[in-house]
Amino acid sequence: MAERRITEAPGIGRKAADDLLSLGVSTLRDMIGLRPRAYDDRRTERRMRDASILDPSVACRITVLSHSEFSSRSGRTLKISAVDDDGTRLELLCFNRYFLKQQMHIGSQWYIYGKAMRNHGVYQISSFELKRTREEAGIGRILPIYPLTGSLTEKAMRNAACYALMALSPIPDALPDEMYSRLGLMHHDKAYNALHFPSFPEEASMALRTLSFTELLVMELSVLRERPSDGARRKSGQSRMERKLIASLPFALTDDQLNAADEIRTDMDGRIPMNRLLQGDVGSGKTLVAWITALHAIDKGRQVAFMAPTELLARQHADGAAALLSGLGVRIAFISGSVKGESRRLLLSSLKDGTTDLVIGTHALFSEDVVFRNLGYVIIDEQHRFGVQQREALMRKGSNADILSMTATPIPRSLALTLFADYSVSVLRSMPKGRLPVKTYLVSEDRRSEMYRSVGVEFERGHQAYFVYPRIDDERESDLRDVTTMHEALKKEYPGVPSALIHSRLPDDEKMEILRSFREGRLSYLVATSVVEVGIDIPNATCMVIEHADRFGLAALHQLRGRVGRSSLASYCFLVYGRSLSEEAKARLRVMRETNDGFRIAEKDLEIRGPGEIMGDRQSGFLHLRFADLTSDLDIVEMARSEAERIVKEDRGLLKAENAPLRKAVADGHWTMHC
Ligand code: ADP
Ligand code: MG
Repeated sequence: MAERRITEAPGIGRKAADDLLSLGVSTLRDMIGLRPRAYDDRRTERRMRDASILDPSVACRITVLSHSEFSSRSGRTLKISAVDDDGTRLELLCFNRYFLKQQMHIGSQWYIYGKAMRNHGVYQISSFELKRTREEAGIGRILPIYPLTGSLTEKAMRNAACYALMALSPIPDALPDEMYSRLGLMHHDKAYNALHFPSFPEEASMALRTLSFTELLVMELSVLRERPSDGARRKSGQSRMERKLIASLPFALTDDQLNAADEIRTDMDGRIPMNRLLQGDVGSGKTLVAWITALHAIDKGRQVAFMAPTELLARQHADGAAALLSGLGVRIAFISGSVKGESRRLLLSSLKDGTTDLVIGTHALFSEDVVFRNLGYVIIDEQHRFGVQQREALMRKGSNADILSMTATPIPRSLALTLFADYSVSVLRSMPKGRLPVKTYLVSEDRRSEMYRSVGVEFERGHQAYFVYPRIDDERESDLRDVTTMHEALKKEYPGVPSALIHSRLPDDEKMEILRSFREGRLSYLVATSVVEVGIDIPNATCMVIEHADRFGLAALHQLRGRVGRSSLASYCFLVYGRSLSEEAKARLRVMRETNDGFRIAEKDLEIRGPGEIMGDRQSGFLHLRFADLTSDLDIVEMARSEAERIVKEDRGLLKAENAPLRKAVADGHWTMHC
């Protein structure tokens, strides 16, 4: 059946239809799915004496007493005196509405809706709506307030919504009948009506809950049904090389690491290409899981590509892989934009003829000239740093390759399940044994010297430190001046203690050299802009000093703090803040002091900041939600996920009679295809 256009609604002409289109509305169905951004509660009549500074709104009947004029900046202006039903006098200041003189005859009665201000003992109203009847004025009702653009008015929108609701009535249910009572939801016809014209405020939230749930359920179902099911398979065992690597480690793997490796290996040995997310807090040991499972692929004669977001990190990983894996005969290569000329040519040919087993690099891995002989496994470190397109480009190089995306962005589980509905998820919950939680101190400017002393003690113990300065802007001179000044001050504070300055504008070779010296203990501390934020792993570093900590977001602070506490040594994080702190900054710093748990921090971050940035391109490129709010609706997210899992298990094809409404909802795309 063709969709009924919005232009069918009275009062919606070409211009209004164009404006509606930019709100994503082109059909009557779109219109009923347009969520009001707020409501205007006119249920109780409010006369003049009910108006206050806090709530100046009035909605009542008035009787016109007289007309007069006064001069204002907009010229001759009409003033109409009137009384409400209590007999309280009021004045309507009719700016640019001189025509009202013809309409509002003396003695006539009107219903008014507006905001009254008391001025010299008289109530004055300058912005108001007038209606002939109580009904028209919306008195006694709750009215929706829509987002508007262009020429649209609330009145036209309300009429269009009202028309659409009537024209499409009764709106069919989208859920199996038993779900409504079991989950406490509203039938859809009622829900849509209540979304636009609720009888009481809670009715609107109940309606929204139903619609949010339906939207999430349909989304989960579309994803889950497409995920091929490989049935239950026996766990695959470790291969020879894997066992060798594990035996050579100076520590035992955590149970979570072993489990994650098992899950990955089992996926790899299955028929269907793996798409798995490995989630684990900073320092939980994700990299090792990647190397172990890389060996599994290599053992089977496949090539492995490992992609990191920065050259620095890619090089660190290449060094790490060389130390762990080359003894096992793995042939390792490194690629980035800076690998050029003859060495690039050799590298490319070794990938093409299969003489390289494992290539580690930056996004240069998916340059067009990179061709693999037999790419079987792609590992993406810090996956949230890459755009969707970058990830897809790499996947195209090995169309059936298994993919492991690693992330420390600790997303609450329910959210992960939704945002990554098309992934399987492995989680490293526990930290390696013997780790002590990092002790975090908030340090105000005037207590700096104490902090310097504590860090000095760590130097005497042979431990190392980072001093991090915020990078305010990518290319700003002033930032550099700030870190430089700070470095000079620190040199005076710690005479004779070897140190280096590292910032984003140094060439990568130089950065790498500095990091190597630091790793080998030739430097005791680094003064850095936040280039150390991601992934750097130097276990002997025990102090992280973050200057202007209030300028960092929670996720960045947590990442930075994660650079220490990577061994059994006690570690410290000092968050230095200045005098003027916003409430939000205070809240962030408090969270940092209270907990080391990345998942808790992410939840707090969601509360403080909302999901937008945390989800990055997932949120903007994939999830367009009309009703659900991922910040506040975690319980609905969870409910939708578990219902979807149950339904797919019982009736993947949605063929059972009771699932017919769902089959229709999933098929017609109305719930998932938003602007
Ligand atoms: P992340 O998950 O943040 O990427 P890494 O993979 O960089 O963490 O690991 C952090 C550090 O922990 C590394 O120095 C690594 O060698 C070490 N590590 C990994 N697994 C274990 C373990 N099971 N026991 C002790 N140390 C471990
Ligand atoms: Mg890492």
